[in-house]
Order: sequence, then C-alpha cells, then structure tokens
Amino acid sequence: MQTTTRVAVIGGGVVGCSVLYHLTKLGWSDVLLLERSDLTSGSTWHAAGGFHTLNGDTNMAALQGYTIKLYRELEEITGMSCGLHHVGGVTLADNKDRFDMLVAERAKHRYMGLETEIITPEDIAKIAPITNTDGIIGGLYDPLDGHLDPSGTTHAYAKAARMGGATIETHVKVETTTQRPDGSWDVITNKGTIHAEHVVNAAGLWAREVGAMAGVYLPLHPMEHQYLVTEETPEIYERDEEHPHVMDPAGESYLRQEGRGLCIGFYEQPCRPWAVDGTPWDFGHELLPDDFDKIEDSIDFAFKRFPVLERAGVKSVIHGPFTFAPDGNPLVGPVPGLRNYWSACGVMAGFSQGGGVGLMLAQWMIEGETERDTFAMDVSRFGDWITPGYTRPKVIENYQRRFSVSYPNEELPAARPHRTTPMYDIFTKMGAVWGQQFGLEVANYFAQGDEPTFETPSFRRSDAFEATAREVTAVRSKAGINEVQNFGKFRISGAGARAWLDRIMAGRIPKAGRLSLTPMLSHKGRLIGDFTVSCTSEAEFYLTASYGSQSYHKRWFEQHAVDGVTVENISDALTGFQIAGPLSREILQACTRDDVTAMRFMDVRDMTVGQVACRVQRVSYTGDLGYEIYCNPMDQRQLWETLWAEGQPKGLTPFGMRAMMSLRLDKFFGSWLSEFSPDYTAAETGMDRFISFKKDVDFIGRTAAEAERETPPDRQLCAFEVDANDADVVAYEPVFIDGQVQGFCTSGGFAHHSAKSIALALIPREKVKEGLQVEIEILGEMRSAKLMTTPPFDADGARMRG
Ligand SMILES: Cc1cc2nc3c(=O)[nH]c(=O)nc-3n(C[C@H](O)[C@H](O)[C@H](O)COP(=O)(O)OP(=O)(O)OC[C@H]3O[C@@H](n4cnc5c(N)ncnc54)[C@H](O)[C@@H]3O)c2cc1C
Repeated sequence: MQTTTRVAVIGGGVVGCSVLYHLTKLGWSDVLLLERSDLTSGSTWHAAGGFHTLNGDTNMAALQGYTIKLYRELEEITGMSCGLHHVGGVTLADNKDRFDMLVAERAKHRYMGLETEIITPEDIAKIAPITNTDGIIGGLYDPLDGHLDPSGTTHAYAKAARMGGATIETHVKVETTTQRPDGSWDVITNKGTIHAEHVVNAAGLWAREVGAMAGVYLPLHPMEHQYLVTEETPEIYERDEEHPHVMDPAGESYLRQEGRGLCIGFYEQPCRPWAVDGTPWDFGHELLPDDFDKIEDSIDFAFKRFPVLERAGVKSVIHGPFTFAPDGNPLVGPVPGLRNYWSACGVMAGFSQGGGVGLMLAQWMIEGETERDTFAMDVSRFGDWITPGYTRPKVIENYQRRFSVSYPNEELPAARPHRTTPMYDIFTKMGAVWGQQFGLEVANYFAQGDEPTFETPSFRRSDAFEATAREVTAVRSKAGINEVQNFGKFRISGAGARAWLDRIMAGRIPKAGRLSLTPMLSHKGRLIGDFTVSCTSEAEFYLTASYGSQSYHKRWFEQHAVDGVTVENISDALTGFQIAGPLSREILQACTRDDVTAMRFMDVRDMTVGQVACRVQRVSYTGDLGYEIYCNPMDQRQLWETLWAEGQPKGLTPFGMRAMMSLRLDKFFGSWLSEFSPDYTAAETGMDRFISFKKDVDFIGRTAAEAERETPPDRQLCAFEVDANDADVVAYEPVFIDGQVQGFCTSGGFAHHSAKSIALALIPREKVKEGLQVEIEILGEMRSAKLMTTPPFDADGARMRG
C-alpha cells in the first residue's frame, strides 16, 4: 500500500467515491480512498436508490439536479451501468398549504431551468394509476425523478475515479488520524500509516467516530429506516411502461416500481435513532430486524392511497440506518478549527446529493472556493455550541418532518430553547414570540393581549402581521428596542490589525472613533461577508456581521491568519440592545452623562449607560436614527432596567426580527444570505459602493472587483413595489419581463411603514429603466410589480444621519 498521498478519503460509500471521482475530474490524481470493508459497506448498499430534485434550499435543489444529470456522464465514461430508471415522479398535495408549497417550488424551478409541472388529480390518476386520488388537490411532476442501482452507481464512481488516476484500497480500516505541525496528516490504518496532505471524512455511518479520531464532533446521527418490496403485482407488470414514483407526504411515504412489483418506504412518526452511543465497528452488510409495529399506521394509510398494496404480499423488508444532520442537509467543507480536514458526511440522500457534494468539496479543495453558495450544507453552519444532546432531538424532528410542509416563517420546536440571553424571561413575560438562529433564541415579535404567542406557519401573511405593523410604527414614530445578541462579533487586535483588515476587507477601514461598512470578498470576487467595522484604537477593531455565519467567517479569518494579529470570536461575549427611532437619541441621552448629541452617524464611543460600561455605535439596520449599545452579558439586565425606565414613558417599545426585516425594506437594505451571499458579487448587488478602490492595498478579491468595474455584470439588484394580495415575496420567485422569466427575487416582504409590498430581485442590467413593469409569480399568481428607484423612507438619509 502506498504511504503518501495528497488526499486520503476515508470511506467507500457513494459519497466517498463521488468525492474521489470529482477530485480527479478537477485535476488531482494523487488521491487515495480507504475503505475498511468492501465499497458500499455502510448505508449505501441497502439504499432504495431513489433520486429527486426537490429541496427547500434552492442551491441544494440545483446540486441535486447536477447529481441526477451526472449519472449518464458516469455511464459514458466507465461503460458501466448505473441501473438508471428515469421514470419521473409526482409529489401529491392533499391540502391547500401543501399545494402552495409545491406551486412555490415550481415557480423557483422556472429560473433554475428545471422542467417540473403542476398537475391535476386527473393527470395523476392517468400517469400513476395505482394512486387513489380521493382528497388530492394536485401534485408536482418532476420528469427527473427516478431510481438507480446503488451498488452499480458507487462502483461506477469508483471506476471513473480510478480512470482519473485515483487509488482505492479496500479492507483498510483507519484507526486514527494525527496532525503534523505543518498541517498535514498521518492516517494510521490497520495496514500501516499514510502521510496525507488532506483528509476527507466520508465515513457515513461512522463519521462521528472518524471525526472523533481528529478531535472534532460532527453533528449527525443515524436513524433507522425501513422500506418494503412487494411480490409481483399485475397492476404493475401488465403495464407497458414503468410506473412513476409517487411521494405521498400525507402518508409520509415514497413509492416506486421495483421489478414486477412495488417498493414503498416510510418516514414514520414513531421513528428511532440508531446507535446512540456510537456505530459498532462490526456492523456492515447486515440489516436491522424487521419492525412492522413502527410503521403500522403508515402501512394502513398506504393501503388507502395505493389499494393495490393490500393485495400484494411483502417479498422483502429492508431496514437499515443512515445519518442525518440536525437540519437534514449534508455536512460539507473544511472543518472549522482544523487545517486540511474536510467533511463529506451527514448525507441523508446520497443518490440525490452525492454528486453535488463531491463537486462542491473538490472545488473547495482545489480551487479554494465553490462555484455557488454552499452555506446550506456547510459544516460551519453549526457552531461549537452543538452537542450530541442537541443533535439527537433535532435529527428525530427532521426525520419526522421529512415530508412535512415547510413554511417560510416556521420555527421548529425541538431542542429549544437551547441558548438564551439574560433577557429571555423578561421578554417572554412581555409576550415575545421566539425564533432561533444558530441555536440562540431571538424574539421575532411581541404578542399583546389575547394574541397567540405562537406564529401560525403560513405561506401568506401570518398572525405576526399586526404585531409587526405595531412595532414598525413604534420605531418610526417614537423608538423601538431590541437585542443585539444575534450579531456575529469579532475583536481584531494587535499592531498589524489595520493592515490585516485592509487586506481581508474590500472596503475602507475607519479611523479611531468611527465605523465603516465593508464587503468581504473571496478571491474570485464573491460576497463572503458584509461587515460593520468599528475602530476603537489603532490596535483594536470590532467587527459585526451575521450571527449564523460566525463559524464560517472565523474559518476564513483563521485561513488568513498572520503573526501579530489576534482574531477573537466574541459573538457571545458581547450583547446589549439596539434602540432606533426619532426619540432614540433623547432616550439614550437620558441614560448617560456622556454627550450623545455629539455623536455623529457612524461614530463609536465608550460610555457608561446607567451603571453599565458600554460601547455605543451610531448605526441602525432599521435605516433610522439609532444606536447599538454593547455590553457584557452579565450587565445586560441592568442595562435593560435603565433603558426601559427612561424609555418606556417616552414610548420605547420592544420590537423583534419581523419588524427589523420590514423596516430595512423601506431603505432597500439587503440582508446576508439573501442579497449578499457567495452566489453574488459586489457589483451585482450594489455592495461595490462600499469597496475602496482608492486604498493602496491588494485586498482579497480586488482583481475580480476591478474587472467588474471595467465590465459591469449582466444582472443588477433592484427593488420593486409589488401589487401583492395576502402573500409577499419570500425568495426565489421568478420575475417575468415581457412574458419571459428573466430574473428572480432575493427577498421581500411587507414594508409596514411605507405600506408597500417590496421585493428585491436580480434582473438583467439592461432592463433596469425608470418605469419598468414586471410580473412576479407569488404562489402561482402573477402579480404586477413596478421598479422603485427611490427608497420610500428617508431617501436622503436626513433622519438616519441627522
Ligand atoms: C433503508 C434505506 C433506504 C435509503 N434509500 C435511499 C434512497 O432511495 N435514495 C437516496 O438518495 N438515499 C437513500 N438512503 C440513504 C443513503 O443510503 C445514504 O445517503 C448514503 O448511502 C450515504 O452514503 P455515505 O457514503 O455517506 O455513507 P456510507 O454508505 O455509510 O459509507 C461510509 C463508508 O465508510 C467506511 N468507513 C467508515 N469508517 C471507516 C474507517 N475508519 N476506515 C475505513 N473506512 C471506513 C464504511 O465501511 C462505509 O463503506 C437510504 C438509506 C437507508 C438506510
């Protein structure tokens, strides 16, 4: 066995083999896969082999589309068969909300170029005749749905990788991994040690154990899963063509033809986590014992939906484990805190997602970044606060909700509250309706009187609408207060801090006492952060940005670490409040002996507020006059007492994230991962106005940003006033110009202050002209929309800067 390699991929399931193939495809041939048994010896061999494009996250859906199209390529390269059955599939909707969800998915697919179709119950009865369509109101047909041979496909990946120069060693078990001081790895196996520049953990069912060998906890958990294969069924074998897949979310089942019979699998409610304390090393090609009790209700439901099943005997039962992350998406990318250690695990749908996972990881390793925003599957989306105790209930919740309708305003309940600030009980008593970000409770809005303290999930305007309107009015007319716990925060210190920031950030780095806004660009000029930088002295700077992306940003900072600069993630070491609105200055002034009136827009000052030491920044995402007041979490309640005592008599009102996201629309402010994400560049989104081309620094992404200045990108972010009814834009709705899909929405909502439904959208640059009228498809209805060129609130910034 060879003793050195550029990359050691641990695990020969479908994911490890896909990673190996994509590494060779992108140009690295000195790559080695280690498999403790034979290929497919984890979840892979017993998969049902189904594939589909449907995924709530648009980028994941696109990668699933890539995966499905890849199989033909594999067959051509290798001459092997993946056993493809491109039979198409229909997802049923038995209620209005589910139908709304499918219609919204169809709309997204339009600009993604996926040819899905909304079909009627009559169409369903025609194409999938074994379906009892009673109670069905429609369905989403996807011609790309199908199934394949899991083992044949994995071996095809393996052969294609070998053809590209890769080596595969089976019956080699990795026993531990240790890092050398230069960042490379010793991979110690039962057959000797391999020195590898990079390690990829693609160990599937054993990914937790393999992660622990490097000292990391990867948040995933195996779940038991069962599907049945029936005896031959005349309704199936007498057909001229193969029966399509039918996903029946109401029955939590997926069904397809298997040979001359059927195969049906269930995501049952009484589901069971498997191997809670670790996956046994001697588990391999065995199955779990049949368990009909667990799926009894599901089977009863399936008999009604597909009556033919009641007559068809069961030929075999497949009951095996596979892994999930807390949100059901894979865990991919560089593991935060480790050099040259990559994750490719937690892939619960290896045959829908494995190709995309392999491609993204290979791009990341070889090119330094991926071609699209991979945050939905980035291993950094969970912080170091995550534990097995949190992961397990979340994974169970995810399994149970596999076929549930997912709503844009939905907050999932499992494992909550997990992290809270000192304000949690105070705000709860005041009616806070909580959401969560990155494990942390964040107030969405405050219910009053008899209003429910639970927001009903909906695709349309929800019962948060009135409360949000109230809070927006309070901010714009008097003042509002909310917490700043959900900003990611970093302290950058040391003699080289300014020089380092100048290189990392594309924008201007402020002088002492001042703030600036700056994009952070990748080497290819993609947006990887939008930061507020505050300078408290030449050797000390503070950054604020997205709370949920703090590990993502920290990983980038660590990858670009230099001597003499200390970067600390202080996201949870600093909290406090934001107060915003016309009376905010007066309220803050009443709480301090420092001169608040002397603070200009974008000033930062240390001051004592009441009895608490604070750092105050004059800036507000509400677009109004406002202040962010940061303090030690131990002091937060005391700070609250002061601000509330002074503010409440003047009309200070708590407001939540729903109001914040409405207020920002009045000013066309974009938000992180909606308008600003690695899918877009600075010039596409208008963030280029914050780039400092004047600074004499070769900041990361400069060449790409300069190229965009020379040749502006084809698309441009714009705001539209939408003639909406009871539903506003959420994200990814198609924009029709002259009857053709020519753009898509990045986010939107109802701007309560200006009483307008506003959408932000990317459209072709040459179409951006005063008076442009477009149509936006919202829940299947074409809504007319008009280009807005001036923000409806404080267009000249007089209030914000005044
Ligand atoms: C009943 C059932 C039905 C399913 N149906 C579908 C379906 O229809 N469609 C779909 O897309 N997905 C389906 N899945 C899920 C699918 O099986 C998984 O998504 C996929 O197999 C995950 O592949 P993997 O490569 O990540 O992990 P695994 O298949 O678990 O592979 C990991 C590999 O790593 C090896 N390994 C682990 N540790 C070491 C070590 N220390 N040294 C060397 N090698 C090691 C293991 O031996 C194993 O071969 C199903 C799963 C089950 C259980």
